[in-house]
Amino acid sequence: MVIQGKKILCVFLLWCTQVSFILAQQVNEFIDLQIHPTMHVPYSFFGKGLEFFNENNAPDLSYQHQFNNVNYANFFKNNKGLRIMVVGSLNGEYIANSKKAKRTILKQINYVNKFAEDNPEFFVVAKNPTEVRNYLNTTDKTIILHSIEGGKELIKSQDDAHFWAAQGVSFITLIHLVDCEYGGAAILPGVPTRLINMDASCEIKNEIGLTELGKNAIIWLANAGIMTDITHMNDQTRKDALVVMEEHGIPPLSTHDGFKPLQHHPRALDVEDVLKIYKNNGFISLPISGFSCMPYNPDEKYQKQIDSLELYCEGSIDSYKFTYEVVKEFIETNPQLGYHDSLSEAEKVNFCIGFQSDFNGWLNHSRPRYGEDGCYLNKPDSITEPIEWQGLAHPGLLESQWNVMQSEGVDLAPIKRSAEKFLLLWQYFLDNKGKF
Ligand SMILES: [Zn+2]
Repeated sequence: MVIQGKKILCVFLLWCTQVSFILAQQVNEFIDLQIHPTMHVPYSFFGKGLEFFNENNAPDLSYQHQFNNVNYANFFKNNKGLRIMVVGSLNGEYIANSKKAKRTILKQINYVNKFAEDNPEFFVVAKNPTEVRNYLNTTDKTIILHSIEGGKELIKSQDDAHFWAAQGVSFITLIHLVDCEYGGAAILPGVPTRLINMDASCEIKNEIGLTELGKNAIIWLANAGIMTDITHMNDQTRKDALVVMEEHGIPPLSTHDGFKPLQHHPRALDVEDVLKIYKNNGFISLPISGFSCMPYNPDEKYQKQIDSLELYCEGSIDSYKFTYEVVKEFIETNPQLGYHDSLSEAEKVNFCIGFQSDFNGWLNHSRPRYGEDGCYLNKPDSITEPIEWQGLAHPGLLESQWNVMQSEGVDLAPIKRSAEKFLLLWQYFLDNKGKF
């Protein structure tokens, strides 16, 4: 009996050691789930990303930088608001030639790899989760991962998927701005995205859904160890994709769509989509720009909440902050997900909300709260974070953004947990290659 008791105690202690080892190893860092420093490759008029400027002559950057490069290498060096960055190589929207599409993406992957090789003191490219963990534990470097935005012409077979996995690609945002061979793209309200996707239908019942090739592409990618990002899909295609993923046990990833109860437009997930993503072991991440997070015909409940806020500047950090808090509350308190029950730290990893900066991705970022471009003309002396009077002008200001949110009582833990969750997910795909 005593021997038996001792044995149980030993097993328990061993388990405790393992659990505490796992907890000690848990990554708790800011990961940007997509950024575009290689925009100049597909669009040559765009300034080159990942170049250093002279610190004595820093460029004068504005949050209104839709067509200007802000991804200077200086901003990614020892950036406390951004330890891991997933670079999204961008495909051409109208590309109709597989070889050309492959060349354009490879050129961007090689550009990033060379940048890291040329600047080994501060940067490193990781090609799998184990490498990420090793670099996090043994260096202070900024870790760069690869992804692709726009899969057009790139995934026609299982071999194609293996090819991208061999380049270290962690996920592919299958569809971008235009309907393609995999399915339909979401159209944001307003003219620009409609103009580039003229053929798309305005009604969900007439929308193109996921095609047979689109379905196969998701499965091929999973079988090669690559996640599929369902961002940018129209409602019908996203719903079809979520069904395929559920049937094949493929966890879904959504890196930068909004939340329909707040942003009632096609570039946002509805409540059912969000539940389905988390229930199938995936997670969502929100676009960080205040402009991308602006409410659009929100549910009355949320409009009332916004109206009751003392400090709220639409299009600034406030729009991101509000969206994040709403999504967080929805996930935490939804009985179907059960995150409001007392969960262990390890289980909480499943509850995370990532962020995606999209710098150099054809958009402006959060405007300032104060000053001529803000909502309040005079900045109180107590305000010390530059994001409040500059807006999110460049990636070097991410730390300032987190500082502001933290000082205003926002719980950033789910954002920082997204790095661990992302690595666990990627590892899951790699461990189950060929089994989906
Ligand atoms: Zn995008």
